[in-house]
This record gives sequence, structure tokens and C-alpha cells, in this order.
Amino acid sequence: MRFDSDGWLDLAQEYNISTNSWDRGGVKVTHLVVHGTAGGSTGDGTMAYMGNNGVSTHFAISTDGTIYQGIPCNRAAWANAPLNAPRLNFARADLNPNLWTISCEFCKPDITNQVTITDAQKQSGFALIKMICETYGIPKKQGDGNSGIISHADINSIDRARCPGTFPWSDLVAFLKGGQPVTPNKYQIADAAAEWASTASLFPGDKSPSYTSGIAKVWMARVYAGQRLGPPLTGETDGTDWGGNAIKVQQFLRARCEWRVDGSSCRFFDGRGKSFQSYPIIWAHPDHFHRDPGRVNLTDYRQRDIYKSLLAFHP
Ligand SMILES: [Zn+2]
Repeated sequence: MRFDSDGWLDLAQEYNISTNSWDRGGVKVTHLVVHGTAGGSTGDGTMAYMGNNGVSTHFAISTDGTIYQGIPCNRAAWANAPLNAPRLNFARADLNPNLWTISCEFCKPDITNQVTITDAQKQSGFALIKMICETYGIPKKQGDGNSGIISHADINSIDRARCPGTFPWSDLVAFLKGGQPVTPNKYQIADAAAEWASTASLFPGDKSPSYTSGIAKVWMARVYAGQRLGPPLTGETDGTDWGGNAIKVQQFLRARCEWRVDGSSCRFFDGRGKSFQSYPIIWAHPDHFHRDPGRVNLTDYRQRDIYKSLLAFHP
């Protein structure tokens, strides 16, 4: 998941309603605003409705978890004006709040917003909120007047007191503190599977490494947790560790895995034989290093990078 330079998210479905938006006029984004739609279950339906009614939102998350984007984050959506008996003492109360906010609508079919969001919305919506905060420098915490994550009701306690209505705030805070989902969302699952498969062409015939092995399962869990082990460069080979235990060994782009055949341990080591820790990718495309250290766009894996990393593992 990443944003381009205009603020379009690659994994969101684009439903462009940016005729209903403003230039931010150089005003810095300080707050992410959570909304509930009080009607409707799909993000595209929400965008269509808003586009026809003189309002807009950056994101709308369908009850099935699909993320739709209507406005690029660099522009101001028309979702939050005006300040109306705000619950917080906003530092930029002198400005239209649309200029300093990014809005996420959670689709809620019931018109009173009393039903909470679905698990699928939680999975993709929480990951989206985290990515927005990290990309735009919004603190990953319950907001105050200066910055952070707030509800629409914080801006307008009169007309929007029930926006977003029932919402799993404590789960969101726990997610953002831990930084990891309890279970991966569908984007993480798809990302990890694509990363694993990205070196399939190195394995002619049917020798492509299994994605259901014990090693693969541990690899998945670590990648979901944010480690950048890289895709497999070899299949599993038999070996023995220093303690004389039978192991399976598999080499990944940035780590070597040793799996005790008795299932008692599975460890990943970096090129120096130390326990693997995540660290920024320094040989990836400069754009990735600049914008999102630690993240690799799969389409940028090239043979030369793989050779380079092999050299690093075998100096
Ligand atoms: Zn709202």
C-alpha cells in the first residue's frame, strides 16, 4: 500500500469526484477524520452519492472492506465544514477544517450509525488509517486540537454528533500502538503472496518453493508483522545446525531461514549470521528509500538486485 505524489493510494479503487475538492492552499494536514455514512454499504455508492450532492470524502470503505478513493490526499475534500460547537480547541479554527483534514468514511447501512463496522472494514480501514498517518505525518493517536485522529463529531457536535457513531476506538488505538493487525488484512495477504511468487521465474518447472511449508508459514507471519525478508531465492535444502540437529535451510533475498526438522524452532539470519531484524532497503529504487524505507515495490525486484544481495550474503 502506498501513495503516489498526488496522494492517490495504489490499492484503493479510484472513484474520482475531485470536482468536489479544493487546493489545500499550502495548509498542512494535521488531522484524520473518521466518519460513518449512516446509510449504504458500498464505497462506490458513497462516492456517487457524495459526488452528486456537493460533498466528498477522500476514502470510503465498503462493508466488505474494499477501499474506494474519491479525492487525492493532496487536495481538500468537502467533508468536515463547518466547525460547529467543536469538542476540541482546534489550533486552526481560523481555517475551514477541510483544509487541514483527511477523511475516511466507513459505510454503515443503518441510518443511525449505531451498528459498528464489520471485521472486513476493521482490517482494511485500520491499515488505511495507519498508512495515512505515517505518510502525512499525523500522530497515530486519539487527536487533540493540534493533531491526530478524530471523529466528525469532534468538529461538529451538533449536526454530526453520531458521526461515526459506534466505532471500535479502543481496537484502533491498540492496533496503532502495536503497529500490527491481529490478523492480516486482504491487502497484506495479497502483498505477501505476490512477494513470495515474485521470484518464481528463478525456479523452472514445478520446483517453485512451496507456500504452504512450515518455513513459508513463519515467513508469512513475519512479513505480516512488517519484516522485509524478501522472496525466496532457493527451495528448502537439508542441513545440520551447529548443535547437530537436522534442519531445512531456505535462502531469501535478505535472510536465511533455518527450520529445525523436529519443528522446535525456525530462525531467520541476516547476511552476517545475526538474527534478522528489519532494516531499510538501500538498494531499492531511490523513490522507495526516500518515501517509505523498508518497503519494496515488487515490480522493482530485478535480477541485478538479487545478484547484489547474493554477493552481500556470500562476500
Ligand atoms: Zn461525518
